[in-house]
Amino acid sequence: MIDLYNRSIDYMRISVTDRCNLRCIYCMPETVQPLPAEELLSYEEMTRVCIEGSHLGIRFIKLTGGEPLVRDGIPALVDELKRKAGIERVSLTTNGVLLPRHLDGLCSAGIDGITVSLDSLDPERFKATTGYAHVGDIIAAIHESIARNIRVKVNAVLIDDGGKPAWRNLAELARTLPLAVRFIEMMPIGYGSVFHGVRNDVILEQIRASYAGVIEDTTMKGAGPAVYYHIPGFKGCIGFISAMSHSFCHICNRIRLTADGMLKPCLCYADGIDLKAILRSEGSGGAIRQALLDAAALKPASHCFTKPQAQKPLEQRLMSAIGG
Ligand code: SAM
Ligand code: SF4
Repeated sequence: MIDLYNRSIDYMRISVTDRCNLRCIYCMPETVQPLPAEELLSYEEMTRVCIEGSHLGIRFIKLTGGEPLVRDGIPALVDELKRKAGIERVSLTTNGVLLPRHLDGLCSAGIDGITVSLDSLDPERFKATTGYAHVGDIIAAIHESIARNIRVKVNAVLIDDGGKPAWRNLAELARTLPLAVRFIEMMPIGYGSVFHGVRNDVILEQIRASYAGVIEDTTMKGAGPAVYYHIPGFKGCIGFISAMSHSFCHICNRIRLTADGMLKPCLCYADGIDLKAILRSEGSGGAIRQALLDAAALKPASHCFTKPQAQKPLEQRLMSAIGG
């Protein structure tokens, strides 16, 4: 799928649920009305979308949410997407709380990578951000995943609280562990608009000042927009996803499928295509493929997070409902 701006669309993020077992302050309010179960796409419906998507060149799927692991049967879905839908790489992004109990199943299904969201290693700060008191269990889950030879990334969104950005402990994870620690700039989606994030160039500058010989690692090109750096002596690497300060829209290769079956061309805007209605009415392979092509054609040239005026209605839903 090539969009109007000559970008090749080969990556789809699928939100499998809008529910979550945590309440990150920039993502989800304490109380939120979850979607009724029948509004969620079934795994069979997701697999049908991926079968047609793979015919159109979708090679990478990221399962997200809400928290994907609160929905039963995720390992079986991974297996279906890889074996039946022919997706090249299926990975998962999780808060890590339920990860240990699913590692066996995910490994058997052949998961290609796990991203764990972890904004701080400090128990108090972590609890203040997520409401969860046991950050040590999440760190243990990261170690266990690596021990099983799973490719692990850690994603951190830092809030600017006026103090020194707390990147160091997170970056230090990559000293002894072969993982990528990635800093993601806060986007003004949902509650993200209430908080100030930390600019990634501030973090990079402080990292350069703290370690000698930091160099960009151009060999580490993944399916996404992260830019990676190597610190001498570190087993892992440090990545930056800088949607706000260094827009990467010109290389955007993704579309999103929300938990309630909307195909979203861009995180920033409200428009989309109701794929669930198509799946539950005509539902032919051709109709699904056309919806995917239409979503690709709707992709805008860029987001407008940093611009004063938007050309079309902005996304109003929570990040947990869209799938971050
Ligand atoms: N629950 C899973 C998790 O936390 O990884 C998957 C869903 S969560 C919405 C996916 C990612 O979106 C997380 O890394 C989270 O930190 C990030 N996120 C949520 N709100 C955000 C915002 N406003 N700006 C940037 N990233 C955000
Ligand atoms: Fe849940 Fe992930 Fe949002 Fe945190 S970032 S509230 S873990 S969906």
